[in-house]
Amino acid sequence: MSDITTRLMSLKDGIEELAALAARDQADAARRLVATLNASIDQAIRDATGSQDIAESKPKRMPVPRDPVEKCPRCTLRSFTFQKNTAREAEGGYEALYRCSSCGHEDWREVG
Ligand SMILES: [Zn+2]
Repeated sequence: MSDITTRLMSLKDGIEELAALAARDQADAARRLVATLNASIDQAIRDATGSQDIAESKPKRMPVPRDPVEKCPRCTLRSFTFQKNTAREAEGGYEALYRCSSCGHEDWREVG
């Protein structure tokens, strides 16, 4: 995270604190102002970092296989099934865990 991002983040904290100090009858207006200011700061962070830091907080889109069910190498039944959220980076691409719903055989296969 860049220095400017750190500074802008602490600015956001300060704005939150300031809003908490607002009188009760002004709390709604303070919350709206906080939302507006935070949105501006987020935009400034995106501008300053080329949006990479913000993207980091989102889960990476993992590849899914074209064919999620394959022929099991052990029992030869077509029940060797791709296991969701098991994709991981491998040499030259991605691989994911497959599990046979018939015999229970597990193995990693290239995906993506
Ligand atoms: Zn099998």
